Parts: sequence; structure tokens; C-alpha cells
Amino acid sequence: MREPIKCSICDSEDWHNLDNLRDPKYWYNQNMIELHNDYKTDPGQFDVDVRDGKVRFNPIGFKVCKSCGYLTYDYPENIEDQYDKQRDFIRVMNIVTNNRKIRKHEKFLKEIFDELSPSQNGRGFSSKVLDVGCAQGTFLKYIKDRCNLDNSNVFGTEFSSAAREFGKNYYGLNIVKDISQVDKSERFDLISYYHVIEHVEHPDRELLRIRNYLKKDGYLYMSIPHWCERLEEASGAICDSFENLYHLNHINCFTFHSFENLIKKCGFEIVKSDDQMYGYTVLCKMVDIPEKFKPIQENYKEIIKSLKSQKEAINMFVQKKYDEALKVYKNFPDAYIMKSIDQRNNKSFEMQDQILVEGLKNCRDSLKIREQRAAIRMQWDGNVEGEFGVYTNRVKEAEHILTALLEEHPSEQYYFSLAVIEGKYKKDYGKAIKYLEEVIEINPMRIGECMNMVGQFYSRGTT
Ligand SMILES: [Zn+2]
Repeated sequence: MREPIKCSICDSEDWHNLDNLRDPKYWYNQNMIELHNDYKTDPGQFDVDVRDGKVRFNPIGFKVCKSCGYLTYDYPENIEDQYDKQRDFIRVMNIVTNNRKIRKHEKFLKEIFDELSPSQNGRGFSSKVLDVGCAQGTFLKYIKDRCNLDNSNVFGTEFSSAAREFGKNYYGLNIVKDISQVDKSERFDLISYYHVIEHVEHPDRELLRIRNYLKKDGYLYMSIPHWCERLEEASGAICDSFENLYHLNHINCFTFHSFENLIKKCGFEIVKSDDQMYGYTVLCKMVDIPEKFKPIQENYKEIIKSLKSQKEAINMFVQKKYDEALKVYKNFPDAYIMKSIDQRNNKSFEMQDQILVEGLKNCRDSLKIREQRAAIRMQWDGNVEGEFGVYTNRVKEAEHILTALLEEHPSEQYYFSLAVIEGKYKKDYGKAIKYLEEVIEINPMRIGECMNMVGQFYSRGTT
């Protein structure tokens, strides 16, 4: 294991190992462990690293910088090969996963996209875009079409050869393995680094490298997961595993502070940010690299304390001890949602809603909790799932909540729920179908479900 000797934020070499917080069973290949009798006699000393099957001491190397509180891991060997091996070919879900984020990108970057479009008299016909870690290129293809850019002005990099080849052959994009293969004289107006920086070694060196490819007035667009602040899976899945949350693939675990430290250290400033969906997203512009960078220091003991509380909260959560979970860690949206659904609390609408309102206070306007407040409004008005219902005041409230959510974060699920309200409660089939078309555009796999709903609408007649 190659040790990242210096902290990427503060350059200190003083680390505190946190492997004792991790569950070895989870990370090591069981077959290999059984082969290794020594593991059984002395499990703390001798482990097999699932990432390459080699036996070594302290295999994860999860650690915190004692000087600034930055969380990272020992870097695995051959990280590029590992990313390459993760995908054998591109599946529909890979495309849907990217599709889901496109409306979010559009919302966040609308002005930038307008500026990059030649027709908008923005940056003329020379706008250039680079998407680092572009997967199969779905987002890059979107930018190219959206901004009406020439193919020769759009570039992607990707370690996975399957994704790279797909993007080249299906979308016709220029995708190379690494930015070092892009002509050194290229300068980009927009470099996207979307959910990538948590995967790369030496993120500070990486951003300084990227900087060389950015025009002086160009934009750097980045997003990271931020579990250090909130117990929530970026994918929207239920947060029921500490090990999954702190997945080994994310070799850098940023807090808001450490991420902002990194950005400042590398000579960028944040001009726009959002932290409600798909992690923490920022748009940056280039400024001078600080001569003497002084990071905001976080007390590493506080970071450890917080990690321990998170672990304990998830442990309580899986045992359905929601109050105990929330006592140790308040910013845990799934715990409020599951607590409200739990049979001890689902006796009345008021009881459920009160729990969710409390959750909103402690989880800074969590989208998930807001969506659940809409869901219970539909459920409690005697409306059976799948059936047509009456457009009551509560359904109206649900509609308000969902419309606000959709306005902030255009998502497949909000479109679908609003289609249900329009079609099954308000009987406005035309509007319902417009929403369903959005669902299908984002996720073509839902076409059957959506068409069945259209079938239900029109089989009842139009009055
Ligand atoms: Zn540090």
C-alpha cells in the first residue's frame, strides 16, 4: 500500500489510524480469509485486502490528519486498473443514473450553458468543455447538444475502458483515458469534475493539474458526497450501513470544510453551491494560488467522535431503535422517515407528520423528508395506491410540496408523483401524460408502468 505521506490539505504527515472503526469482515474476501489460518488465530494482525487479494497489515488504512482533520485512506495500488475492472460493459442503469442528474446539471449550470452556446453570443464558437471521469459520456453528449458545440471542442477522460469505448462508439465523443493524453495547449471554458475528486489520489495535485487546462475565466464544476455532515446515501438508497457509506472507493472523505480548504489551496473560489441533492455541488472560478495557504482546521478528535456517533446511529437504526439513533446523530433523514412509518407511530396522520416536521428541523430541509410529507398526505386521505381518488385538501398540500420539490430539483420521482395527482385525483390526463413523458425520458425502463397508467386514464373515459 502506498502511503499518502502528506495530507492533501495541510501537508502534515501526522496521521491517526481509524481502522478500528471498520468491520474487517465486510472488506476482506471470505474465501481468502478461510485459506489463511493465521487470520483465525490473530485476526487483528493479518488481513487480506479485497482490492487486490494480497495479505497485509492494517489493510484499509482509514485515517484522519491530526493537524487539520482531513479523512482519507492509504492509497491502493493500481487504482486505474481497479476502476477499469469495475465495468465489463455499459448497461441501461449506467445511462439512467447519468440521465437522472442531467436536469440537475441543467438547473445548476443553465447560465453557464447559455454562455457556452455560440448562438447566445457568449463565448463565440470556440467554447470547449472537458468532463473528467465522464463514464460513458452521457453528460458530455448532453452538453455538446445543449450548447451546440462542435465535436472537436468536447473532450472526456475515463479510466474504465468499457465506458470509454461506449462513449466513443455510441455517442461519437473524444474520450481518452487520462487528461495527460489531451493536448497540453488545450484550454477549456468548463471542466466538469462531477463525483470524481473523492476517487483520485492526491486531490490537491489533481486540481493543480486540472488548473493548467482551464481558461483564465473558465469554470470548474465539482460535486462530492458529504456523509461527514449528513447520514444519507447520495444515491437515495436507505442509509443502513456505515461500511457502505464510507465505501473504500471513496478514498477521500470530505467535510464541507476540508473540501473548501482543498478548493482554496488549489487557487479556486466557489461562486455557486448546492448541498441538497447528489451531495455537495460547487461551481468555481480560478483565482491566484495562495502563497501561504492556511486551512480551516478541524479538530481530529471531533471528527472521530462524529464518525463514532454515525456508526452507532446506523447500528441503532438497523435495529429499528429510531429514537436512540436520533439521540446520537440528529442529521439522519431515513431515521425520521422510518420512525414515522413504524407501527408505534403510524396511528394517525398528525403523529406521522409531527415526526417528519421535527426531522426537517434537524436535517436542514431534507428532500427525502419533504417527499415523505407529500406521500403521507396522499395515503391518509383514504386513497388506495393504484386507485383513483378524491382531490382533497391534503392531496392539494401534497401537490404543493411536490411542485416546490420539482422546481428545486427536477427528479424522476417527483414527476411521477405529480402525474398520479394530475391523473388520478384531478383527472387532468393531458397534464399527467406530460409528467409521465418526463419520467420516461429520464428513465426509459419505466415506460411499461407509465403506459399502464395512461391505459387506466383513458379506459375510464375523459369526463
Ligand atoms: Zn491535514
